[in-house]
Amino acid sequence: MALYKRRPYVLDSDLAVFEVRHAPATRVANPGIYRCTGCGEEVPVAKGHLLPRGEQHEHGPEDGKVEWQLIVFAQQKR
Ligand SMILES: [Zn+2]
Repeated sequence: MALYKRRPYVLDSDLAVFEVRHAPATRVANPGIYRCTGCGEEVPVAKGHLLPRGEQHEHGPEDGKVEWQLIVFAQQKR
């Protein structure tokens, strides 16, 4: 689970980008922390970079399908 210390630097949001589930190796438009909906692993991904491929994180068959969901959207000035 993602942690933070200073509350003024994070905000609640209802943006639709948090609802999208991405397949492994998808190139992301939104930088931030993504969470595997199956096993709960979290990874930071920069804008324009790829989400981990299937073999790039430990995910057992009992964890189900690998899908990545944005949980913290890093805001950039440009
Ligand atoms: Zn996983």
